[in-house]
Amino acid sequence: MVSQSDNDVSEKLKALRSKFLDRARDDIRELSAYAEQTRSGKLSAEGLIRCYQSLHRLAGSAGTFGLPELGQHARSLEKKLKSQAENLSKASAVHQQTIAVSDGFADGVDSLAELVEINSEKSAVSATETIVSAEQHRVDDSHGMQVRILLVDSDRSGTVGSLSSGLARYGFVCQFVDAQDEKALQTFVVESGSAASVLCRDADLPAVIPHLKSWRGTGSRRRLPVVAVGNDDSFDNNYRVAKAGASAFFAEPIDVPELAERIESLAMERSASVNGRVLIVEDDVELAEHYCLVLRAAGIEARFLTEPEHLMPELSVFQPDIVLMDVQIGDYSGVTLARLIRFESRWLSLPIIYLSSEDNRDDQLEALSKGADEFLVKPVSDDYLVRSVRMRCYRARQLSDLMNRDSLTGLLKHSLIKQELEKELARCRRLGHYSSVVMLDLDHFKKINDTWGHRHGDTVIRALANLLRNRLRETDMIGRYGGEEFMLVLPDCSVQAAAQLLRGIGESFSELTFSVGEESFHVTLSAGAAGINDFESGEAALEAADKALYRRKRGGRAGVTIHDAKQ
Ligand code: GH3
Ligand code: MG
Ligand code: MG
Ligand code: MG
Repeated sequence: MVSQSDNDVSEKLKALRSKFLDRARDDIRELSAYAEQTRSGKLSAEGLIRCYQSLHRLAGSAGTFGLPELGQHARSLEKKLKSQAENLSKASAVHQQTIAVSDGFADGVDSLAELVEINSEKSAVSATETIVSAEQHRVDDSHGMQVRILLVDSDRSGTVGSLSSGLARYGFVCQFVDAQDEKALQTFVVESGSAASVLCRDADLPAVIPHLKSWRGTGSRRRLPVVAVGNDDSFDNNYRVAKAGASAFFAEPIDVPELAERIESLAMERSASVNGRVLIVEDDVELAEHYCLVLRAAGIEARFLTEPEHLMPELSVFQPDIVLMDVQIGDYSGVTLARLIRFESRWLSLPIIYLSSEDNRDDQLEALSKGADEFLVKPVSDDYLVRSVRMRCYRARQLSDLMNRDSLTGLLKHSLIKQELEKELARCRRLGHYSSVVMLDLDHFKKINDTWGHRHGDTVIRALANLLRNRLRETDMIGRYGGEEFMLVLPDCSVQAAAQLLRGIGESFSELTFSVGEESFHVTLSAGAAGINDFESGEAALEAADKALYRRKRGGRAGVTIHDAKQ
């Protein structure tokens, strides 16, 4: 399936390639003129530096534009000039020197010209095809995403079909498909965003999984996770299920809260791995544009800048997960820029990855010791770029999540959700919309722990976190304020709307059944809501929501109370 935007990407990549070829021809023409001088032994110091620079540039970019042989050849010529160029920079009276260059150089430059002409005829970059066939996808935020589940079974009232209502209470959107109905399965797979999962019987796995594989396209996007259910919990059956490619197995009787939690975490893991933000610092405009296009086509947000003066403001605005830094950006050194980034403490843990055509390990090590994290050696193929950037973004997110998110629920930690509240108040003032803050607390939770044990208490806390993620919007912010207390910041939402929303969520939550062996229990929640706009500070709005919560607790729990200034 090639969409309009895929065609756009392909067209743009072609245009960039032809710009690159034009520039390469110009560079090689200039190189040839200098090469002539070397034949008569008269290459000037300035000429040497020019040659070295254009060969370096060709070596770093030709591979990306589908001319790897040209790149390799330029690299070997660049190496021939390397020692002379380095000695030069140390010498004084540079410009009066004439330099002797080994005989093979001029011939080498001639073959560069041939390589460009031979290869430019070949059809556009082969790697482009991979990108074009990769599906375009929506980028989900790590919360506030609605997870869709496809239930596959031969009978709507079978084991899988009957889980539908239980899972829907957690806010999942469930859709049933007959195991034989390939068409419906295909439609779901093609249309689902990243936040989706398939649930089927273990016996149906061999029929279901190959379809998911064949329909995911050739992009590097991972296939939908499949969770299997069945009644044989033996090691052998578990092994069969794992071998068939399922991500999890649940034996009957099925623990619905645990199942819901697993589906949620699989969906989060999958969506986390597709998004990411990358800032590229690169002075070669065509190369930078090419990288951006390729990354964007793979669902990664990418921006580039060619002028390092704009680096610091761009970092604050864009807040990338990682930076791809060219080693030499005009007169600026990437190594020095990396150090400069670290001047600001907020960027101390920002991963900086060098894009370099420098395959000299010693130079790389030196750069690493000065503050960069890793190297991608140019030319970088499109596929390799996407895979390594995605992996590094994922790792960067995991690290920052470790610092910012609560480990039990994956929600924002106390201090972060409070910061979000202050930011939202500022936005309300600036944009004039109304927003709400909600404090939420589980009822009689001490008793739940005492009766059923702390582990089951934890399951309840996670179930509420998942329900909130599924039911709130992507722009809403959810924090774990303390033990069994949660705090929500709901932008562009009046306090009445917030109360109504929370009543619905509270009702769904009270309907969730938690089972322990043969027995089961239910839990309710209380909430207090306040309009952020009515207060001077986020702190004051929060206090008001907390007061409303307290009134709800005294008034019988299990419900929502709106802050009332008169009480
Ligand atoms: P109320 O309806 O008035 O809120 O009563 P409550 O029992 O929920 O309130 P209280 O604040 O007295 O007790 C909260 C309990 O929550 C006590 C604590 O052990 C439990 N708790 C806090 N954090 C966790 C957690 O991470 N896991 C589990 N299982 N329990 C927790
Ligand atoms: Mg450069
Ligand atoms: Mg409490
Ligand atoms: Mg409580």
